[in-house]
Amino acid sequence: MITKEEIVEILKGVTHPESGQNLIESGILQGVDIEGNKVVLTLNFRRKRDPFAKSVATRAKMAVDAACEDAEVEVVSHEGEDAPKPREHEGVARVKNIIAVASGKGGVGKSTVTANIAVELHKAGYSVGVLDADIYGPSQPKLFGVEDYAPWAEKYDGLDYIIPAESNGIKINSIGFYINPGDALIWRGPMATNALKQLINQTLWGELDFLLIDMPPGTGDVQIAVAENLHLTGALIVSTPQQVAVADVVRGMKMFSTKGVEVPVLGVVENMAFFTPAELPDHRYYIFGRGGARIMAENEGVDFLGEIPLIQSIAENSDNGTPVALGSAEEEKYYAEVCRKIVEKVAKRC
Ligand code: ADP
Repeated sequence: MITKEEIVEILKGVTHPESGQNLIESGILQGVDIEGNKVVLTLNFRRKRDPFAKSVATRAKMAVDAACEDAEVEVVSHEGEDAPKPREHEGVARVKNIIAVASGKGGVGKSTVTANIAVELHKAGYSVGVLDADIYGPSQPKLFGVEDYAPWAEKYDGLDYIIPAESNGIKINSIGFYINPGDALIWRGPMATNALKQLINQTLWGELDFLLIDMPPGTGDVQIAVAENLHLTGALIVSTPQQVAVADVVRGMKMFSTKGVEVPVLGVVENMAFFTPAELPDHRYYIFGRGGARIMAENEGVDFLGEIPLIQSIAENSDNGTPVALGSAEEEKYYAEVCRKIVEKVAKRC
């Protein structure tokens, strides 16, 4: 008799005409049950009244029929709201809160903020994962010291799931594990979107209180696709005080309120807000201007969640793969404060 694994292999040859993805990549195949010579394929079409549902189901049945003549094949299809809940080990099914960390432009410290907030959440007793979706500069592997991690897969119900890396109790999966740094810029459009969808849906996150998504900077199709494909609890926006960064950030923030995305913005974090030299601990130098992100947050009617100063040890610890929030140095308290506000906002459901 045919095995589940063989059926999954066969169904990799059946694609949905619209997305061009096979039944496994697209997540349409929900289950394969074999009892005696009876094979039941459960398909789940996300869209209600999917015009291709019937033809896809027929082709799936025919493919399995052809490979195993003595099997009696039945296909059960669900569509839209009637679809069953995802199986419990599937992708983000058991993640309670998914937060996108976004910025209008690169280099403002979005990844550093993501890593340190993840550490603070973990210190506060939550189970935490980080998905590094920044195709233009994936830096979470370096920030957490797991650059050498080689992702591997485990099978559940005949489907492959990626086992994330783990550092200081935080689960990490990054697009950086799969691409060479030099190739990042050619990853655009559908190719990047599909790879990110796969990372989202095929990582074995397990049960998590928080999954932080280090988003690619900007507001293109890739960013929108990531936001649309996840049931985000909210978005955290990172900006420096400079006007140019602030203007980009407003655009980035507006993306979350566009139709189809509609994600609440938890608030704005101002990174590199000021600089205090060690020998003058009472002085604050506002080298990138003062309070730009706070003013922008007020103007846009979103909460201001705090300032993170420009501190050499933040950059150094990032380079060493030990986010500064792991320690108890003075700078840790800034991240702890932002983390406290995030938890508060999420508890109130944004
Ligand atoms: P992004 O993810 O927005 O591209 P990164 O988090 O990679 O930005 O940060 C860009 C650079 O700035 C990194 O070298 C990082 O170590 C440094 N950096 C970020 N935040 C701070 C800070 N508050 N103080 C000092 N250096 C910082």
